[in-house]
Amino acid sequence: MDKYQQSHKDKLFKPDRLDVYVESHRPRGLAQCPQCGVKYHAGQWTWHVDLSAQEVESFLCPACRRTLDQAPAGEVRISGGFLKTHEDEIIHLLRNTEEREKHDHALERLISIVRDGDELVATTTGIHLANRIGHALDAAYDGQSSYRYSDSESYLSVDWHRD
Ligand SMILES: [Zn+2]
Repeated sequence: MDKYQQSHKDKLFKPDRLDVYVESHRPRGLAQCPQCGVKYHAGQWTWHVDLSAQEVESFLCPACRRTLDQAPAGEVRISGGFLKTHEDEIIHLLRNTEEREKHDHALERLISIVRDGDELVATTTGIHLANRIGHALDAAYDGQSSYRYSDSESYLSVDWHRD
């Protein structure tokens, strides 16, 4: 990983990174998403809190809103001959990376994995997961990757290629 990528990776963990979906859809108090079951507590969306004895608002979480709106925060485009012979394995890696990521970062999820011509395109609800998937592909298969952030850093597009 070069310095440019590393500096971006560090930035992703800043708590003050603004996500318009998170900022514009905040419950007033305790809440639970009727779609995925994630809970809102102390200003965070998390799986790891028990609110069963408390009164909670039913509130669609930002990740489910993005999925419903088909409004990804990140995408990973996978291309090259390696994809043709390893597609199932790659899809498995994408899903595994999502499982690990969303355990601690509840709003980081895959929206879809679809074929677009010769490319496989994964879209995500958070830029963090797109970044993780790019690095997981690099670590597992040693391809070529590039990371492009939007000016506001609210969108990340990753291209990964191996011949
Ligand atoms: Zn949800």
